[in-house]
Amino acid sequence: MTESILDGGAVDGLRAAMAGDVMIPGDAGYEDACKVFNSMIAKRPALVAHCATTDDVVAAVNLARDRDLEVAVRSGGHSVAGLSICDDGLLIDLAGLKGVDVDPDAHVARTGGGVLWGEFDAVTQEHGLHTPGGRVTTTGVGGFTTGGGYGWTSSKHGLTCDNLVSAEVVTADGRVVTASETENEDLFWGIRGGGGNFGVVTRFDFRLHELGPIVLAGLALWPIDRAPEVLRAWRDYVAGAPDELSTACVVLTAPPEEFVPDHLKGQAALGMAAMYVGDPEEGAGVIQPLKDLGPEVDLIQPMPYTAFQAILDPSAPKGLRNYWRGEYLTGLSDGAIDTFAEHAPEVRGAGIPFSQMIIFRIGQGVSAIPDDATAFSHRDAEYLFHPISVWEDPADDDRVIAANRAFAEAMRPFSTGAAYLNFTADGDRVRDSYGAEKYKRLVAVKDNYDPENLFRGNQNIEPSHTTGEPALA
Ligand SMILES: Cc1cc2nc3c(=O)[nH]c(=O)nc-3n(C[C@H](O)[C@H](O)[C@H](O)COP(=O)(O)OP(=O)(O)OC[C@H]3O[C@@H](n4cnc5c(N)ncnc54)[C@H](O)[C@@H]3O)c2cc1C
Repeated sequence: MTESILDGGAVDGLRAAMAGDVMIPGDAGYEDACKVFNSMIAKRPALVAHCATTDDVVAAVNLARDRDLEVAVRSGGHSVAGLSICDDGLLIDLAGLKGVDVDPDAHVARTGGGVLWGEFDAVTQEHGLHTPGGRVTTTGVGGFTTGGGYGWTSSKHGLTCDNLVSAEVVTADGRVVTASETENEDLFWGIRGGGGNFGVVTRFDFRLHELGPIVLAGLALWPIDRAPEVLRAWRDYVAGAPDELSTACVVLTAPPEEFVPDHLKGQAALGMAAMYVGDPEEGAGVIQPLKDLGPEVDLIQPMPYTAFQAILDPSAPKGLRNYWRGEYLTGLSDGAIDTFAEHAPEVRGAGIPFSQMIIFRIGQGVSAIPDDATAFSHRDAEYLFHPISVWEDPADDDRVIAANRAFAEAMRPFSTGAAYLNFTADGDRVRDSYGAEKYKRLVAVKDNYDPENLFRGNQNIEPSHTTGEPALA
């Protein structure tokens, strides 16, 4: 494959056609382009198209299609499954598609396909606006939005894909099309939860909501032996709390920071992240019952929204080995809590201190959207179980991954059986995660926009002619 690309004049042709850089092995920048968030993924494309414009993306897509190349598309490179890089083929890197243009009157932000969430928040917050986005600033808008996207404010405003008003998409045949409620509606439905299956999204237009610049938010910590009791109290309280209250609980390793009491430092602890999506003064009374649970560390206080959006950054450095799962829970029964509290400290300890065993409370902002409105599924789940294992030494791969999988197996009686694909390291959960009917509808969109499956470096929806299975008529 590499030879045929390099011998055919394709590299020179693509260089001439693109405003952005084209890199091959040995070029400055090529090795950096091969590095993705999860260091378990070590792949080397033959060619990297560092796109700066939509036309660059068109040129790269046309080359890939005409030469039958493997394609990987990258926005922020955070796919833990390693879906934004390939061996031998063409990496279409959108990192040059920057730019966030805010229309404060229309409450819309036109956003380049390679923008990272920290960049998005910085610009939109200048206007006191936001859309639900990544909880780590270096995640890209591309994979995040096309896969759904849960942010801290989703409990109130829905998923990121629910806040997509319109998108510009380069399809497999090299056309540049608009997808919205009134243009290419099937494509618009598919890119909101169906991943990168239908084309390369070069621009996202997001609906914006007022928030900040100051929000009431932060983290709290309890000793691990209080986990069963605090988790029950949390569950009971959030069930009746307003949508503005966004929370998650996590078993983690208490950091060696000054604000952490000595007896907790380096130990397993129960953490809680909380944010009030609204006026901080109104939020004080809503958050107080969680503070009344008596954490030993309470950092929940008024702070800039952008600071809370960056609060997890130090715990998510690029370049470590990662294995993640994202399982929807049917609820949070006492059995689920006890199983979680029993296994989480040990599974956390199998990796290094960045490992975190999380349960997110999802909220009604997500469940209020009808299930058939977008390709995204499982809106009715109230909780998402998200064990993140992180480690450094390849010799530990089998042990750490086995511990994480065993944890997910122990939680299986409490899970719906479906996964949040954006959090999922394993590539075999696609059909189950959409369900049979929605999958058929996704196949119909695939048949319409990418019948030869050029875009298959993703949580893949296969076109009907390759599987013989019918799409939705
Ligand atoms: C540290 C960290 C924090 C995270 N936090 C959250 C969180 O708070 N909430 C949440 O829901 N998820 C979160 N995730 C998961 C995240 O949603 C997925 O990893 C997502 O794929 C990342 O988007 P990206 O653009 O960085 O991914 P990439 O790795 O660049 O791409 C992932 C997939 O999307 C496709 N893709 C990317 N851009 C485009 C595009 N413009 N058009 C078409 N296809 C495209 C790629 O081809 C690939 O298949 C987090 C992940 C990490 C590593």
